[in-house]
Amino acid sequence: MLRIGCHISSSGGYYAMAQRAEALEANTFAFFTRNPRGGSVKALDPEDIRAFSAEIQQKGIDRLVAHAPYTLNPCAEKENVLQFAEMAFSEDLARMEAASPGQYYNFHPGSHVGQGTEAGIDKIAGLLNRVLKPEQTTAVLLETMAGKGSEVGRRFEELRAIIDRVEDASLNAKIGVCMDTCHVWDAGYDIAGDLDGVLTEFDRVIGLDRLKAVHLNDSMNEKGAAKDRHAKIGEGKIGLEALVRVINHPILAKLPFILETPNDEAGYAEEIALLKSRYLG
Ligand code: FE
Ligand code: FE
Ligand code: ZN
Repeated sequence: MLRIGCHISSSGGYYAMAQRAEALEANTFAFFTRNPRGGSVKALDPEDIRAFSAEIQQKGIDRLVAHAPYTLNPCAEKENVLQFAEMAFSEDLARMEAASPGQYYNFHPGSHVGQGTEAGIDKIAGLLNRVLKPEQTTAVLLETMAGKGSEVGRRFEELRAIIDRVEDASLNAKIGVCMDTCHVWDAGYDIAGDLDGVLTEFDRVIGLDRLKAVHLNDSMNEKGAAKDRHAKIGEGKIGLEALVRVINHPILAKLPFILETPNDEAGYAEEIALLKSRYLG
């Protein structure tokens, strides 16, 4: 069974998200833990959480890939931005434990804004060392980045360095990776022409056991462009056939695939149906 879904609006609460996912025939989904551009968050409603948990269990919706807000920069230079990142990260993790235990919390390593990649990596690892808890059931997923501006995480080596600096084994075990097909392509990895080679490189540098989820996007730009402009499936430079190879690759086929393509709900439903029709597993 292909596990596939898309970003779902979290307005209206958790149960409403489950219903929206069902309407699109999605069996996994992503959602922002708070306004992607803003900061504050509403208290959880226990009734809503109960209804949501029962619903996703009954409908087989699983391996949710929650997304941290874009304003969360774990390697910011400014002290107040760093403080927000740490506060939001640990508050989001607590909410994940309460509302959706055992799922994924995906975040961008961040932008070092001139401090340099090394300094950025140190700050990201420092934050993880402070916010991860040995008892948490949520895995946190570093996202592979396109390398736009001063983004950390364009090279697999950068993600590896972050993971290595979380030395406590019980905390280190909570860290995984979410591979974004648009981002790795924009970063210069040839997932369209040499998917096996990219996965071999991922395994050599990070280890495939860390790979927990895939953001399935086409890209508006050429390989290595470092632009990060997502395209609809089959309408970009990666192309439909290459993305069909991604969902069917034996190493990837059991992972959750999340669409982050520029679509409305009808467009997402079409892409979900198209990819299900091309899944061989
Ligand atoms: Fe992302
Ligand atoms: Fe992504
Ligand atoms: Zn992106």
